Amino acid sequence: AKKQGHLPLDVIQEPDREVESRRSETESALREAVARGEIETWYQPIVDLQDGGAATVVATEALARWRRPATGIMMPGDFIALAEESGLIADIGQAVLNQACLAATALDGVIVSVNVSARQFARDDFGAVVRQALEMSGLPSDRLCLELTESVVVEAIEYAAATLHDLRELGVRLAIDDFGTGYSSFTQLRTFTFDLLKIDMTFIQGIEESGRDRGVVEGILRLADVLHLDVIAEGIETAGQRDLLREMGCRYGQGYYFSRPSPTAHPTLVSHT
Ligand code: C2E
Ligand code: CA
Ligand code: CA
Ligand code: CA
Repeated sequence: AKKQGHLPLDVIQEPDREVESRRSETESALREAVARGEIETWYQPIVDLQDGGAATVVATEALARWRRPATGIMMPGDFIALAEESGLIADIGQAVLNQACLAATALDGVIVSVNVSARQFARDDFGAVVRQALEMSGLPSDRLCLELTESVVVEAIEYAAATLHDLRELGVRLAIDDFGTGYSSFTQLRTFTFDLLKIDMTFIQGIEESGRDRGVVEGILRLADVLHLDVIAEGIETAGQRDLLREMGCRYGQGYYFSRPSPTAHPTLVSHT
């Protein structure tokens, strides 16, 4: 019997039937959506911050979207975790990768940047999947960038070196995503060779108000400089943030200030006149 004032332990310990059945409904819906090719790829431009204000689009990040007939567009935050748990992420990731490479062939010199999940990266056919996406699309390998979070490499630490070596042989670019939020940022930089790092938006959001946040970003920029890494600042939402990043010497930027993700790979920037 339950006692007043105590946590209802039976509820915590036993899986909630309702939550569980809704979850498995969503999972089978996602499985069907993947099979029917209903995972879409949206794109968000990455711009040059150091070209005198022209904000030339140099790259674009591919972001998964699930269009559900009844619900509308579902964001990755609402299905990527489920996709990871159920193993569907590998198929979703592959669909996004294929779509992104194909779309990029129509973009003049623009690099396409694709997110890679831990489970996708850990598969021993990952290198082959990437090679196939390049071959099918005809995209030159140096126009594809793979974004790996710190946890992706850590979780696959046994194969990470070999897989990263294969990808390097292919000639694709490698980025550390969400830099600074993981617990092994520095170990990762010491152990593996990356081409660029993306400063997580949580660091960017405070730079106008906080000298401490500015200091952290400046530190990351200096580190990147010493290691010859390109840098992208994520989550730029204001002109003030852009100006500060520009003054600090950050080369590239991405964020709502320039453009929200959109279903077309052809970049259109927000005009601020
Ligand atoms: P992420 O890789 O860090 O991607 C950046 C996220 O920040 C995107 O959210 C983007 O829409 C959002 N964003 C960009 N600029 C701004 C800004 O100025 N302000 C704010 N508040 N947000 C901004 P999105 O598309 O919802 O994706 C969320 C996460 O889902 C991604 O974070 C990534 O971790 C994951 N994800 C998305 N697509 C894929 C995919 O194809 N494969 C895998 N494995 N993960 C994906
Ligand atoms: Ca990313
Ligand atoms: Ca990120
Ligand atoms: Ca993130």
